[in-house]
Amino acid sequence: MKKFQEYIRRVEPYTPGEQPQASNLIKLNTNENPYPPSPKAVEALKEMDMDRLRLYPDPQATVLTSALADYYGVDKEQVFVGVGSDDVLGMAFLTFFNSDLPILFPDITYSFYDVWANLYRIPFACPALDENFRINPEDYKRPNGGVVITNPNAPTGICEPLSFIEKILSYNEDSLVIVDEAYIDFGGESALSLVNRYDNLLVVQTFSKSRSMAGMRIGFAIGNKELIRAMNDVKFSYNSYTMNQTSLAVGKASILDNAYFEECCRKIIHTREHTKEELEKLGFSCTDSATNFLFATHRDIPAETIFEALKAKNIFVRYFKKPRIDNYLRITIGTDEEMEVLLRELKQIIVHK
Ligand SMILES: *Cc1c(COP(=O)(O)O)cnc(C)c1O
Repeated sequence: MKKFQEYIRRVEPYTPGEQPQASNLIKLNTNENPYPPSPKAVEALKEMDMDRLRLYPDPQATVLTSALADYYGVDKEQVFVGVGSDDVLGMAFLTFFNSDLPILFPDITYSFYDVWANLYRIPFACPALDENFRINPEDYKRPNGGVVITNPNAPTGICEPLSFIEKILSYNEDSLVIVDEAYIDFGGESALSLVNRYDNLLVVQTFSKSRSMAGMRIGFAIGNKELIRAMNDVKFSYNSYTMNQTSLAVGKASILDNAYFEECCRKIIHTREHTKEELEKLGFSCTDSATNFLFATHRDIPAETIFEALKAKNIFVRYFKKPRIDNYLRITIGTDEEMEVLLRELKQIIVHK
């Protein structure tokens, strides 16, 4: 091996869900929203002055941070925006997790956390969820270098109440606690109401799921000013212009259209509950989801078999070949029509096994 090869950073990358390019398929594998973004966002895109693309965007991303600050009732100095919440979370790991003690997150959760921890050489430990996939808060009552809780959790879909988050915060006054709320708009209670009471709380959300903008790449974090300033210092030491002109304009327009946003979330919640009932009639059991997906297991047929059979019918769901969850499917909530097709195909698969 040559010297330079020895010095290459070897990492095990995150594996995103498949993005198949065929058009006649039902895509329920990456928790995208089946409804289009707000018509106001589409309008903002059409009205964009293309000459602006010559210029660097505002490094402070003021139009978007201000819109978010007004919407959530915080100061704009309390808002950090990034290229999807993955960018925001990665930046938060880099900014806050510099202790020699391990950071803590559950064994079953968003599978990007251990990737960032490895990339940034942050030690970590993963307390196991209980047999009902619930987080035991007592596991987070020990010296640590930080805590990351996804609420609602992924891929289980289970949401913990705000009192649970407060318990984690009270056990961790000396640690930064990140609450990843990628799915909070589908029925959970956000910890944003706590950011002015706990100086160690950072709440991260995204436009990718509830705002139908996975392709636009917008995420944000809200916390106290000191945390946001620290994140901005790290970001400006890396790349000052992460937010392009287009995302700034389109993101702001989306935030201003609350009626459309709420209607989309309401529809997805309704479809989720209906789909859950129908899946249960087919012999599935599902966790209680507060997200835009269901986490389902069948009493007779292995999840991997169902996953492959659905794929053969051009229906993509997510299957994780991992201990404890390898008999579950994570099924994104699509439109009512897409879910009807899914249920029809599942019926076929089940009678033929
Ligand atoms: C989807 C998701 C993200 C990342 O979303 P972005 O598209 O990068 O905003 C982060 N955390 C969880 C738990 C997610 O499910």
